[in-house]
Amino acid sequence: MSQTDCYRGRFAPTPSGPLHFGSLVAALGSYLDARAAGGTWLVRIEDIDPPRCPKGADSTILRQLERFGLYWDEQVVWQHTRHAAYQQALDCLIARGLAYPCSCSRKQWQDFTIYPGWCRNGQREANKPVAWRLRSDLAKRPITWQDRLFGRQQLDPATFGDVVLKRKDNLWAYQLAVVVDDAEQSISDVVRGYDLLDNTPWQGQLQTALGLPTPRYLHLPLMVTDDGQKLSKQNMAPALAESVEGVRHQLFHALQALDQAPPIELAQEAPEVQLRWAIAHWSIEQLTPFHHRALPPEY
Ligand code: GLU
Repeated sequence: MSQTDCYRGRFAPTPSGPLHFGSLVAALGSYLDARAAGGTWLVRIEDIDPPRCPKGADSTILRQLERFGLYWDEQVVWQHTRHAAYQQALDCLIARGLAYPCSCSRKQWQDFTIYPGWCRNGQREANKPVAWRLRSDLAKRPITWQDRLFGRQQLDPATFGDVVLKRKDNLWAYQLAVVVDDAEQSISDVVRGYDLLDNTPWQGQLQTALGLPTPRYLHLPLMVTDDGQKLSKQNMAPALAESVEGVRHQLFHALQALDQAPPIELAQEAPEVQLRWAIAHWSIEQLTPFHHRALPPEY
């Protein structure tokens, strides 16, 4: 099979608000990597946590992607429609002794840095709501992979603790949902922000436990503000530009943030033109593996 046939990438935003410059860099990196490989690029809306996802944020994100010329292939998938698949995966982990119900509250283990695993051999308090956790000590460990930018990684998920798979309020957790959906959509390449690099070991454990393939990973440097904070919806990063001018400039700056050294004239061009250039010149060898990248001053 050629790379063109098998490359499937995705951008998987949580619709907790509109996209900001940091999310544009992640979306653009994954888009360019897929398009340069002649592959397929998907968008998946990770709306498993409704209280965190204001109504309409999903369509705002899709309109923003279109404004920047980042058109996706196939139908958008919304995670809120995927409960049955997540439950099936959880049932499979339970059957293998790799997931357990936990009645502990955060307050009870506040003196520990990670959850100490008190419910591993039986729920500590009966008749209480339970979360489901992964037995990170029993699943495959350590997890190793070759990150396409950051090189060989080896991490033991047990040192990060037994991650929650399903919450006490019955909402699904990111780790389980992302693994099930990446496999369902036959994703070959995950390209996303560096902030998710240390989630990858749990995802590797889940992939192995569920008999799912492991994609290739490319984690991209994060955009940080002057005071070193990750640009995020929580710290009020402004939404992406809407004006024709603003879109052109932000797209150009996002290409610079990905170290693609676009020629200066490109800054005035429409997204289609900038993207055509960027696909033809996409090179991850140019990306420097800094964990963080300073934001252009105007964002
Ligand atoms: N939904 C996650 C986020 O918005 C990204 C998931 C991923 O790319 O694996 O941070």
